[in-house]
Amino acid sequence: MSELNLKKIKESLVAERELLISKLNGNDLSVDDAETPDPVDLAVRNYSKNVMLAVSENDSRQLIFINEALTRIGDEEYGACLNCEKPINPKRLNAVPWARYCLNCQELLEQGLLDED
Ligand SMILES: [Zn+2]
Repeated sequence: MSELNLKKIKESLVAERELLISKLNGNDLSVDDAETPDPVDLAVRNYSKNVMLAVSENDSRQLIFINEALTRIGDEEYGACLNCEKPINPKRLNAVPWARYCLNCQELLEQGLLDED
């Protein structure tokens, strides 16, 4: 069984999160610091951000999973299946560090046999 390198997993989660956030923000991360935005500008920006989130549902879901995974690392609960609480195969976590379920439960989920959350 391969070891779970939490440090490496955390690094790839953080890197993936950065990538998703810049994708969801339309790569305009640097603009925000440039000047103090007026409220209207801010509202427009938030609005388009929400639209972006809606059209990028998969990306924003993945972002949530990544944040969850990072929280679980912080709480030292990382690596346990959210359904059956058994340890998730480290190979699977190395490939999909934001995985929430073990392979068994993931299969159940995909067959619609598992209630998510
Ligand atoms: Zn499970």
